[in-house]
Amino acid sequence: MIVASIEQICPDQQEWLEQCELLVKAESLPAIVWVAMQMGLWIARGIVEAELKRRARVIGEWSKCQQCGHKLQSKGWRERQIETVIGKINWNRRVGRCPKGCRGHLAVPLDEALGIAPNQSSSEELMRLGCLLSVVMPYELASWLLGQWSGLSVSSSTLWNWVQTKGRQAQAEIELQLQSQAQGQVVKPDPLSAIESVLPLAIAADGVMVPFRPVANTPKGKTQWQEIKIALLTRLGSGINRAGVTVPQLLNRRLVAVLGDIDKFIPHIQLEARRQAFDSASQVVWLSDGGKGFWRVYHTCFAHCTVAVLDFYHAAGHLWRATAAIFTSPRSADARAWFVRWRHQLRHGQDALVLASLTRLINTDLFTGNSLATLLQVQAYFQRHHHHIRYQHFEQLQLPLGSGMIESACKWLIQQRFKGVGMRWSESGFNNLLILRVAWVNQRFDPLFPNVTLPVHPHSPIP
Ligand SMILES: [Zn+2]
Repeated sequence: MIVASIEQICPDQQEWLEQCELLVKAESLPAIVWVAMQMGLWIARGIVEAELKRRARVIGEWSKCQQCGHKLQSKGWRERQIETVIGKINWNRRVGRCPKGCRGHLAVPLDEALGIAPNQSSSEELMRLGCLLSVVMPYELASWLLGQWSGLSVSSSTLWNWVQTKGRQAQAEIELQLQSQAQGQVVKPDPLSAIESVLPLAIAADGVMVPFRPVANTPKGKTQWQEIKIALLTRLGSGINRAGVTVPQLLNRRLVAVLGDIDKFIPHIQLEARRQAFDSASQVVWLSDGGKGFWRVYHTCFAHCTVAVLDFYHAAGHLWRATAAIFTSPRSADARAWFVRWRHQLRHGQDALVLASLTRLINTDLFTGNSLATLLQVQAYFQRHHHHIRYQHFEQLQLPLGSGMIESACKWLIQQRFKGVGMRWSESGFNNLLILRVAWVNQRFDPLFPNVTLPVHPHSPIP
């Protein structure tokens, strides 16, 4: 019998009357809403328990023992309990065992049909919510908020365990994708709207430091900072703001984040670039500051098909260093004017003039020691990047001149969650949370919980 009336949820009339009485006694609107919500949860639990009771009564064939092939036999009814987003659910169901006494778990056909593992104590939709909260806020806060919202008590260490479980699962999936990429198999591109697919693809990369514990499982010792390498892949679109002005817009943003060196980072950025169909994009632009490791990524993966832009602000920073080496008082108006002229030349298509003037200064014998060393460094930097500083040309192509987009991505991906006061990470604890956070910003969080169907919102929100 399918649940059709309140009596089936609650055979005890008295209990229902008590709930109604609470509602009547509630005075203010918030109080009425709160009681009604608790009643709603109470009814929801009743519906679930009644439905499980109905399913438990349906008698099916017992399966065969996986070890000896004998048909399993019922060992009677056992109680089961699980924590869900609507609270604790209890039900009874038949368990079976091999008549020959083979070892192994009790067979529980109903639990198997429901997709519950033998030792599972929380339902997957609750784990999903717990992981989602943990992805955006500290574990302690997530635990507290979960309690506020639903009255559930899920400890921060339980949340931590869920993140480790799901994080490991997500890592394993990515490892498989990396393996098949390494074997030369074609990476299937993500679906892209017709509008997005004709827009230029920007790939930007940068590093950000995160504090780690020197020794696992103990808070002792001096913090060790390690660099997380981040890439942002996005389609360069445009929109119109409230003032009616056309402004650049980053569409279909995807992030890559790796704890490890450049060699570990390269296959990850390649995989994402393939998923974003970089080889069929109308134009690909690479954006980075002067960090040599990231330019190695560019030369290894993208140089054959990409326009590369050296971040203008970093380039201008190097011009300032050179200016400070030339003038005895770098704060003087002369020094300032010199720098402004250089920066203007660099920005407006006269990068060759800037390089020529640097070279001329180096050849004058006016500079020695540190000043000369700085000038030579800056000269080498601009020579190395002379293809990547053609800012007037890039502007004509309507390309961004700065890597500001990756710097802000580092802030909201890493800073916001991993660099809170007193936070220090273990490598595995960091990686398991990072992979879920990246999945969340890349709109790939929900597929990690395939049993949870969300009828209203198909995707988790984008930050
Ligand atoms: Zn058996």
